[in-house]
Amino acid sequence: MAKRFWDEAAETMARPELEALQLERLREAVGQALKTSFYKPRLEGIGISSPGDVRSLADLARIPFTTKDDLRRAFPYGMLAADRRDVVRMHASSGTTGIPTVIYLTAGDVARWTGFLARSLNATGADSNDVFQNMMTYGLFTGGLGMHYGAEKVGMMVIPVGPGNASRQLKLMKDFGTTTVHATPSYLLHLHSKLAEEGIDPRDLELKRAFCGAEPYSEDTRRKIEALYGIEVFNSYGLSEMNGPGVAFECERRDGMHLWEDGYILEIVDRDSLEGVKDGAMGEIVLTILCREAMPILRYRTRDLSSVYPGECPCGRTHRRIARIMGRTDDMLIINGINVFPSQIEEVIMAMPEVGNNYLILVEKDGALDRLTVKVEIGPLAFADDSRPLNALRDRIRDRLQASISINPRVELHEPGMLPVSEGKAKRVVDERTRI
Ligand code: AMP
Ligand code: ZN
Repeated sequence: MAKRFWDEAAETMARPELEALQLERLREAVGQALKTSFYKPRLEGIGISSPGDVRSLADLARIPFTTKDDLRRAFPYGMLAADRRDVVRMHASSGTTGIPTVIYLTAGDVARWTGFLARSLNATGADSNDVFQNMMTYGLFTGGLGMHYGAEKVGMMVIPVGPGNASRQLKLMKDFGTTTVHATPSYLLHLHSKLAEEGIDPRDLELKRAFCGAEPYSEDTRRKIEALYGIEVFNSYGLSEMNGPGVAFECERRDGMHLWEDGYILEIVDRDSLEGVKDGAMGEIVLTILCREAMPILRYRTRDLSSVYPGECPCGRTHRRIARIMGRTDDMLIINGINVFPSQIEEVIMAMPEVGNNYLILVEKDGALDRLTVKVEIGPLAFADDSRPLNALRDRIRDRLQASISINPRVELHEPGMLPVSEGKAKRVVDERTRI
């Protein structure tokens, strides 16, 4: 049986105690960072030459941010704080924004990461009664192995299938009575169309929950997946620089993701001034990883946009919750001077029941102006002989988009299966303007 808490003392720690622990662990992280060729000169330059020079949590603000470019500059071993012989694993980011970046873990680091995942999965109700099909990519990407270790820790039976091959996924789900899956939201939507093709009603499967993350998705997409499969979807947030999944996870309330503050120091900063924002305001997530021996990272600019949830969670966990990721500071589109997040477009179209499981946002130059086209897959029933309802649907989508994003897009309707599908993170935006 899933326990109410995996690690009650840690998960329900009172705020002052939690902050005292953070300070102690920040000092250790700074001590590790001082062992690296990257951080040593940086920290000494601001008067921090030993862990004791960090006197309070407020001192964190003196430390410069670390960026993805810094990680690349320190490649391959510039941020390594442990003896190479104590490193048991490396992972690399999927390179959403360019060249991959590498992280290292000692055996202790792997164990601590697994602990955060076990705590997260237990909070969703997962336990040894569950059969867990991990549809995330194994290999350099952290979503495969990371989640695998956490799932074993809580006692689930793991099917380490990885992504792709929908028919095999379905067969495994049926043969072994899979109760829990881990996948990108776009893959679950895709898989559902395959189920429909094979005449399988997902409600006849044993499936009861999914962990979804790795790419932004809206609340409507969550609800859509929940309704299609008759399951509960838990939002899972992480990034390879901060180990991977297990940084923040939804508990059984599915209302904001608890960010494990005994493992990470959370800051939300204004995207322009980089000053901390008030609780509840949106900004960029900045994270400092605590307790990572092999590779300390201080004040990492994630580029992910979110906000801190006000108030405490009724579940009893004291770690603050962050809101669903709104997008990244670097996937924001500026179309004819107007800022648009792909997630805003997704929110509008996924809220419409006629819309199918896939869409594509295309931005092109049209003379001096930008032109936005939203290609939408619609459900099989919508393509009837009579084109009038289709025109009406197209107009309705366009009007709703215009009301939400203040841009009048072109809308194209496509039959199911006509838009490209990717196995990993979905590529939903094609920006032709950046090509020469
Ligand atoms: P990677 O380092 O390859 O694991 O990619 C990490 C990035 O994936 C994060 O910085 C986010 O931009 C994105 N990501 C991960 N989980 C989520 C989630 N639950 N919602 C939205 N975006 C996510
Ligand atoms: Zn909670």
